Amino acid sequence: MVKETGYYDTLGVKPTATADEIKKAYRKLALKYHPDKNPDEPEKFKMISQAYEVLSDPKKRDIYDQGGEEAIKGGGSGGDFHNPFDIFDMFFGGGGGSRRGRGPSKGKNVVHQLQVSLEDLYNGTTRKLALSKNVICDKCEGRGGKEGAVEKCKPCKGAGVQIRVAQIAPGMVQQMQTMCSECSGKGETINPKLRCKTCQGKKVNRERKILEVHIDKGMKDGENIRFAGEGDQEPGLEAGDIIIILDEKPHEVFKRRDIDLVMSLELDLVEALCGLQRTITTLDKRTLVISTIPGEIIKPNDIKCVMNEGMPMHRNPFEKGRLIIKFDVKFPKNIQTERIPSLEKILPTRKEPIIPDGAEEHDLVEFNQEEYQQQRRREAYEDDDEDMPGGQRVQCASH
Ligand SMILES: [Zn+2]
Ligand SMILES: [Zn+2]
Repeated sequence: MVKETGYYDTLGVKPTATADEIKKAYRKLALKYHPDKNPDEPEKFKMISQAYEVLSDPKKRDIYDQGGEEAIKGGGSGGDFHNPFDIFDMFFGGGGGSRRGRGPSKGKNVVHQLQVSLEDLYNGTTRKLALSKNVICDKCEGRGGKEGAVEKCKPCKGAGVQIRVAQIAPGMVQQMQTMCSECSGKGETINPKLRCKTCQGKKVNRERKILEVHIDKGMKDGENIRFAGEGDQEPGLEAGDIIIILDEKPHEVFKRRDIDLVMSLELDLVEALCGLQRTITTLDKRTLVISTIPGEIIKPNDIKCVMNEGMPMHRNPFEKGRLIIKFDVKFPKNIQTERIPSLEKILPTRKEPIIPDGAEEHDLVEFNQEEYQQQRRREAYEDDDEDMPGGQRVQCASH
């Protein structure tokens, strides 16, 4: 049992979620709420990042499970959270946290999620994707205006920040750094008369770009495809990358487990007992026929597999995993009583019990599993309750 579920709720996973499930949840939400895509909810992006930071670290997750958010934030056990953008960059293999310290040397990466079907990943495919990115304005060659249009910002002397001294208590002053409002932190201003009309002095223009994304056979959910140097351009910096992240859509029949595929198959009792023959349509539209050996019986929850009918291995697509089939057997609700003798004749003979004198006879009643569990939970809760107020009551009486 965990103390709180707040971080789990933020990521939309259960407290029992595996590391992979947590990663996937972060991936989806971080892309959805990244301020580039969703500027209205910056807080949400931060919360997702914090929840991921804690839950993706087994040690921190343990602390959180036991003591909740309070235990994470207090006690010096890693209460400082990283910058959400650093977490994002690290996760998506972007800009590189180490570069940030020395100031950016590269334009921003453009991260985009691409939904693909299991069929796409099985057969491989090429998808066209339209993206918009910043491209250096060719009218002004990235200067923002005509020659000499750019001047160092006077109020901040080109620093982009202004230092204010504020008195916070008598005799106590604090230096506060604020972004320069004159130049919005850029450190320079552009003479409006000389400003480039194409980019309005922004030095870059937003352009649409069509990308051809090749999806190889056997690629996985969450895999990155990188287009180096195709990301945002910024004057004086190396262009960023475009990173495409594959997002596998759930399939109706097959579930992927590494290179294996898993499916369930419901059999009628006659098939389970007397043999079965079924067809399965593969992800490349072939038809497989599966059958049991004559005389073989399939029990509920039996698992069998077909070799080499799983997913192709990435970069070695002739090598394939297994197709794992989980069987379920549908039993008839009841049987016509006059047919019982003929069925008994075929089935192995039953053991007759020895009934002693005076034995009691009982009817079987349906057992409601759900109700039983609810009852158990209620009892456990009431037990907990009794210790506390009960104890207090005793104390009160003695006063
Ligand atoms: Zn300024
Ligand atoms: Zn321009």
